[in-house]
Amino acid sequence: MQPLKRNGWIEVICGSMFSGKSEELIRRIKRARIARQTVQVFKPRLDNRYAPDAVVSHNGALEQAESVARAEELLDRVWPHADVVAVDEVQFFDDAIVDVAEVLAGRGVRVILAGLDLDFRGEPFGPTPLLMARAEYVTKLHAICVRCGQPATRTQRLVNGRPAHYNDPVILVGAAERYEARCRHCHEVPG
Ligand code: ADP
Ligand code: ZN
Repeated sequence: MQPLKRNGWIEVICGSMFSGKSEELIRRIKRARIARQTVQVFKPRLDNRYAPDAVVSHNGALEQAESVARAEELLDRVWPHADVVAVDEVQFFDDAIVDVAEVLAGRGVRVILAGLDLDFRGEPFGPTPLLMARAEYVTKLHAICVRCGQPATRTQRLVNGRPAHYNDPVILVGAAERYEARCRHCHEVPG
Protein backbone atom coordinates (compact mmCIF):
# COMPACT_ATOMS: atom_id res chain seq x y z
CA MET A 1 0.00 0.00 0.00
CA GLN A 2 1.27 3.48 -0.90
CA PRO A 3 1.47 5.62 2.28
CA LEU A 4 -0.29 8.99 2.07
CA LYS A 5 2.11 11.96 2.09
CA ARG A 6 -0.33 14.76 2.82
CA ASN A 7 -2.44 14.76 5.97
CA GLY A 8 -6.21 14.59 5.91
CA TRP A 9 -8.24 11.47 5.19
CA ILE A 10 -11.26 9.50 6.37
CA GLU A 11 -11.18 6.17 8.24
CA VAL A 12 -14.35 4.19 9.00
CA ILE A 13 -14.59 1.45 11.62
CA CYS A 14 -17.83 -0.52 11.15
CA GLY A 15 -19.49 -3.78 12.13
CA SER A 16 -22.29 -5.16 14.31
CA MET A 17 -22.78 -4.49 18.01
CA PHE A 18 -20.04 -6.12 20.14
CA SER A 19 -17.66 -6.27 17.16
CA GLY A 20 -15.14 -4.05 18.98
CA LYS A 21 -15.72 -0.74 17.17
CA SER A 22 -15.42 1.38 20.32
CA GLU A 23 -12.39 -0.62 21.46
CA GLU A 24 -10.68 -0.05 18.11
CA LEU A 25 -11.62 3.65 18.09
CA ILE A 26 -10.17 4.06 21.61
CA ARG A 27 -7.01 2.21 20.52
CA ARG A 28 -6.50 4.58 17.59
CA ILE A 29 -7.15 7.63 19.82
CA LYS A 30 -4.57 6.44 22.36
CA ARG A 31 -1.94 5.78 19.67
CA ALA A 32 -2.50 9.20 18.11
CA ARG A 33 -1.95 10.79 21.54
CA ILE A 34 1.26 8.77 21.96
CA ALA A 35 2.33 10.35 18.66
CA ARG A 36 1.65 13.75 20.36
CA GLN A 37 -1.26 14.55 18.11
CA THR A 38 -4.17 16.69 19.24
CA VAL A 39 -7.23 14.45 19.30
CA GLN A 40 -10.82 15.56 19.71
CA VAL A 41 -13.54 12.98 20.40
CA PHE A 42 -17.25 13.37 19.64
CA LYS A 43 -20.44 11.36 19.94
CA PRO A 44 -24.09 12.07 19.15
CA ARG A 45 -26.01 13.46 22.13
CA LEU A 46 -28.83 10.91 22.04
CA ASP A 47 -26.60 8.01 23.05
CA ASN A 48 -26.62 7.62 26.83
CA ARG A 49 -25.03 4.18 27.00
CA TYR A 50 -23.20 3.78 30.37
CA ALA A 51 -21.71 7.29 30.51
CA PRO A 52 -23.08 10.61 29.26
CA ASP A 53 -19.88 12.15 27.87
CA ALA A 54 -17.55 9.32 26.99
CA VAL A 55 -16.91 6.65 24.41
CA VAL A 56 -17.28 3.41 26.37
CA SER A 57 -16.65 -0.07 25.02
CA HIS A 58 -18.36 -3.24 26.25
CA ASN A 59 -15.05 -4.32 27.81
CA GLY A 60 -15.01 -1.17 29.99
CA ALA A 61 -12.44 0.98 28.14
CA LEU A 62 -13.36 4.64 28.28
CA GLU A 63 -12.43 7.87 26.52
CA GLN A 64 -13.89 11.31 27.27
CA ALA A 65 -16.03 12.68 24.44
CA GLU A 66 -18.02 15.81 23.61
CA SER A 67 -21.69 15.16 22.88
CA VAL A 68 -23.11 17.07 19.94
CA ALA A 69 -26.70 17.25 18.73
CA ARG A 70 -25.92 17.70 15.03
CA ALA A 71 -23.10 17.33 12.52
CA GLU A 72 -22.94 21.12 12.06
CA GLU A 73 -22.39 21.55 15.79
CA LEU A 74 -19.50 19.11 15.58
CA LEU A 75 -17.87 21.16 12.82
CA ASP A 76 -18.30 24.37 14.85
CA ARG A 77 -16.65 22.79 17.88
CA VAL A 78 -13.54 21.39 16.15
CA TRP A 79 -10.40 23.16 17.39
CA PRO A 80 -8.33 24.82 14.65
CA HIS A 81 -5.28 22.86 15.86
CA ALA A 82 -6.98 19.42 15.96
CA ASP A 83 -4.95 16.75 14.14
CA VAL A 84 -7.43 13.94 14.68
CA VAL A 85 -11.23 14.02 15.00
CA ALA A 86 -12.77 10.77 16.28
CA VAL A 87 -16.52 10.11 16.23
CA ASP A 88 -18.35 7.15 17.81
CA GLU A 89 -21.89 5.92 17.06
CA VAL A 90 -21.77 7.79 13.77
CA GLN A 91 -24.90 5.99 12.47
CA PHE A 92 -27.03 8.30 14.62
CA PHE A 93 -26.00 11.47 12.76
CA ASP A 94 -27.88 12.58 9.67
CA ASP A 95 -26.26 12.67 6.22
CA ALA A 96 -24.70 16.11 6.94
CA ILE A 97 -21.93 14.23 8.78
CA VAL A 98 -20.65 13.10 5.36
CA ASP A 99 -19.93 16.69 4.25
CA VAL A 100 -18.46 17.52 7.65
CA ALA A 101 -16.04 14.56 7.38
CA GLU A 102 -15.09 15.66 3.84
CA VAL A 103 -14.49 19.27 4.93
CA LEU A 104 -12.30 18.22 7.85
CA ALA A 105 -10.29 15.74 5.76
CA GLY A 106 -9.83 18.50 3.16
CA ARG A 107 -8.40 20.75 5.89
CA GLY A 108 -5.79 18.14 6.81
CA VAL A 109 -7.58 16.40 9.69
CA ARG A 110 -7.47 12.62 10.16
CA VAL A 111 -11.16 11.79 10.60
CA ILE A 112 -11.97 8.45 12.28
CA LEU A 113 -15.64 7.45 12.37
CA ALA A 114 -16.96 4.34 14.13
CA GLY A 115 -20.51 3.05 13.80
CA LEU A 116 -22.98 0.34 12.93
CA ASP A 117 -23.08 -0.45 9.20
CA LEU A 118 -26.39 -2.35 9.50
CA ASP A 119 -29.50 -1.80 11.61
CA PHE A 120 -31.33 -4.59 13.49
CA ARG A 121 -33.17 -5.47 10.26
CA GLY A 122 -29.86 -6.04 8.49
CA GLU A 123 -30.26 -2.94 6.32
CA PRO A 124 -27.64 -0.17 5.78
CA PHE A 125 -27.73 2.21 8.74
CA GLY A 126 -27.94 6.00 8.27
CA PRO A 127 -24.83 7.76 6.95
CA THR A 128 -22.40 4.86 7.64
CA PRO A 129 -22.58 3.35 4.13
CA LEU A 130 -22.05 6.79 2.56
CA LEU A 131 -19.02 7.37 4.75
CA MET A 132 -17.66 3.91 3.90
CA ALA A 133 -17.85 4.78 0.20
CA ARG A 134 -15.95 8.04 0.65
CA ALA A 135 -13.37 6.82 3.17
CA GLU A 136 -9.75 6.11 2.29
CA TYR A 137 -9.74 3.27 4.82
CA VAL A 138 -12.59 0.99 5.94
CA THR A 139 -12.21 -1.57 8.71
CA LYS A 140 -15.09 -4.02 9.05
CA LEU A 141 -14.96 -5.81 12.40
CA HIS A 142 -16.85 -8.97 13.35
CA ALA A 143 -18.31 -10.03 16.67
CA ILE A 144 -18.90 -13.68 17.54
CA CYS A 145 -22.34 -15.10 16.80
CA VAL A 146 -23.87 -16.03 20.16
CA ARG A 147 -25.79 -18.87 18.48
CA CYS A 148 -23.17 -20.69 16.42
CA GLY A 149 -19.76 -19.16 17.18
CA GLN A 150 -19.11 -17.99 13.61
CA PRO A 151 -18.08 -14.39 12.85
CA ALA A 152 -21.12 -12.17 13.41
CA THR A 153 -22.03 -9.34 11.03
CA ARG A 154 -25.58 -8.67 12.24
CA THR A 155 -27.20 -7.18 15.34
CA GLN A 156 -30.15 -9.21 16.62
CA ARG A 157 -32.80 -7.16 18.35
CA LEU A 158 -34.82 -9.04 20.96
CA VAL A 159 -38.04 -7.73 22.49
CA ASN A 160 -39.16 -9.63 25.59
CA GLY A 161 -36.74 -12.39 24.53
CA ARG A 162 -38.15 -12.80 21.00
CA PRO A 163 -36.72 -11.57 17.66
CA ALA A 164 -38.01 -8.08 16.93
CA HIS A 165 -40.31 -7.78 13.92
CA TYR A 166 -39.29 -5.78 10.86
CA ASN A 167 -41.84 -3.06 11.61
CA ASP A 168 -41.42 -2.88 15.38
CA PRO A 169 -40.99 0.76 16.43
CA VAL A 170 -37.49 1.83 17.36
CA ILE A 171 -38.69 2.78 20.84
CA LEU A 172 -40.98 0.31 22.62
CA VAL A 173 -42.28 1.68 25.89
CA GLY A 174 -42.31 -0.85 28.72
CA ALA A 175 -40.73 -3.70 26.73
CA ALA A 176 -37.55 -5.49 27.83
CA GLU A 177 -35.22 -5.02 24.94
CA ARG A 178 -31.75 -6.32 24.27
CA TYR A 179 -29.34 -6.86 21.43
CA GLU A 180 -26.93 -9.64 20.58
CA ALA A 181 -24.42 -10.39 17.86
CA ARG A 182 -25.38 -12.97 15.23
CA CYS A 183 -24.14 -14.21 11.87
CA ARG A 184 -26.17 -13.89 8.67
CA HIS A 185 -27.65 -17.37 9.09
CA CYS A 186 -28.72 -17.02 12.71
CA HIS A 187 -30.06 -13.45 12.35
CA GLU A 188 -33.87 -13.43 12.53
CA VAL A 189 -36.22 -10.66 11.36
CA PRO A 190 -39.82 -11.90 11.26
CA GLY A 191 -41.97 -9.88 8.84
P1 ADP B 1 -18.93 -2.22 19.67
O1 ADP B 1 -18.48 -0.79 19.86
O2 ADP B 1 -18.69 -2.74 18.28
O3 ADP B 1 -20.35 -2.47 20.14
P2 ADP B 1 -17.23 -2.76 21.93
O4 ADP B 1 -15.86 -2.26 21.59
O5 ADP B 1 -18.09 -1.89 22.80
O6 ADP B 1 -18.00 -3.14 20.59
O7 ADP B 1 -17.14 -4.17 22.68
C1 ADP B 1 -16.35 -5.24 22.22
C2 ADP B 1 -16.23 -6.24 23.37
O8 ADP B 1 -17.50 -6.82 23.63
C3 ADP B 1 -15.34 -7.43 23.11
O9 ADP B 1 -13.98 -7.15 23.33
C4 ADP B 1 -15.85 -8.44 24.12
O10 ADP B 1 -15.22 -8.25 25.37
C5 ADP B 1 -17.31 -8.07 24.31
N1 ADP B 1 -18.30 -9.00 23.74
C6 ADP B 1 -19.47 -9.31 24.31
N2 ADP B 1 -20.19 -10.14 23.51
C7 ADP B 1 -19.46 -10.37 22.41
C8 ADP B 1 -19.67 -11.14 21.21
N3 ADP B 1 -20.79 -11.85 20.99
N4 ADP B 1 -18.68 -11.13 20.28
C9 ADP B 1 -17.55 -10.44 20.50
N5 ADP B 1 -17.30 -9.70 21.59
C10 ADP B 1 -18.23 -9.65 22.55
ZN1 ZN C 1 -24.61 -17.93 13.72
